[in-house]
Amino acid sequence: MKCRRCEEQAVVEVRHAHAAYCPTCFVERCREQVSRAIGEHRMIRSGEKVLVAVSGGKDSLAVWDLLLDLGYPADGVYLGLGIGGYSDRSGDCARAFAERRGATLIEIDLASEVGFTIPQAANTRRMPCSACGLAKRHLLNKTALDHGYDVLVTGHNLDDEVAVLFGNTLQWNMPYLARQRPALPESSGFARRVKPLVRLTERETAAYCVIRRIDYIVEECPMASGNRHLLYKELLNTLEERDPGAKATFLNGFADRVAPLLDDLAAQERDSVGTCSRCGSPTTAEVCAFCRLRDQATRPPRRRKKRRRDRSVH
Ligand code: SF4
Ligand code: ZN
Repeated sequence: MKCRRCEEQAVVEVRHAHAAYCPTCFVERCREQVSRAIGEHRMIRSGEKVLVAVSGGKDSLAVWDLLLDLGYPADGVYLGLGIGGYSDRSGDCARAFAERRGATLIEIDLASEVGFTIPQAANTRRMPCSACGLAKRHLLNKTALDHGYDVLVTGHNLDDEVAVLFGNTLQWNMPYLARQRPALPESSGFARRVKPLVRLTERETAAYCVIRRIDYIVEECPMASGNRHLLYKELLNTLEERDPGAKATFLNGFADRVAPLLDDLAAQERDSVGTCSRCGSPTTAEVCAFCRLRDQATRPPRRRKKRRRDRSVH
C-alpha cells in the first residue's frame, strides 16, 4: 500500500476514507481533521483558555497532543477515580505526557474532593459507568469554571459519538439527542464543552499515539463490564466491517438533518435549568444528581434508598 499523499510506504489504512497514509502524512491528516472540526463548530476562539479532560487513555492524550501542536496553549485536568491499580497507571500516563510536553496538569482526587471513589459509587443503584460519568461531568465542569477556563475539551472520538447516538436513538431519548453536538455552548453554570476528535475514529487515535510514541493506558477499566456502549460499539464495528463509512454516514446524517430540528428542544432544556440548592450546580431538580449520588455513595449500605429518576442536566 502506498501513501495517498506522498506515495511512500503506507502504515495506516483509513478504510472509511478509502485511503492509506505513511506516518508523516497520517499525523498531518489527524491535525487537519481536528482543525476542521474546531473551525466548523467554532469550538475554540483565539485567546481562549483551554482545559483538556485527560484520562490517561489514547483519545484524551491524542487530543491534548494535537491541540498543543496546533498552537493551542491547552492545560490538562486528571481526575483520580480511585479504581485501584488502573487509576494509578492511568495517572502515571497523564503525568508522563504532561512532563514530556512541558504542559500544566491539574490533578483532582475524587476521594479527597468529594469523599467517595468510583468503586464506592458502584454500590449505589446507579451502574458504575453511569456514576462515573456523572462524577466526571460534574467535577470537570466545576474545575473548568473554578479555574477560569473558557472551554473544556474531551477526547470523545467518532466511535464514541456514534455509540452514544445509537443508544439514544434506540431509546428515543429526545432530550439527550437534542444535546448531542460536537460543541455544546457555554451557558449558565456550564463551560463550553467540545469534542475535537469527532472526525477521527478510535483506530485512528490509537495509530496516532503509536506513531507519536505517546504512552497511554491500554488495559480496559475493570469496572467497564455491563457498559452498554461497549455492546453498541461491537455491533457498530460489525456493521462498519461490512459497510465501511456507515458510522460516519449515521453521525453526519444526524448532525445535518436531525439535530437542527431539535434546536428548540435544546433551548427549552437550557431554559429549564436552575441551580442545586446544595452545591449551586445546574440542574432541573431541587438537588442535583451529583449531590444525590454523593449522599448514596457515602451512606451506610443498609440505609440507602431506591434510586429515583430525575431530569438532572448532568
Ligand atoms: Fe468510569 Fe466506566 Fe470509564 Fe471505568 S469504564 S472509567 S467506570 S466510565
Ligand atoms: Zn448539587
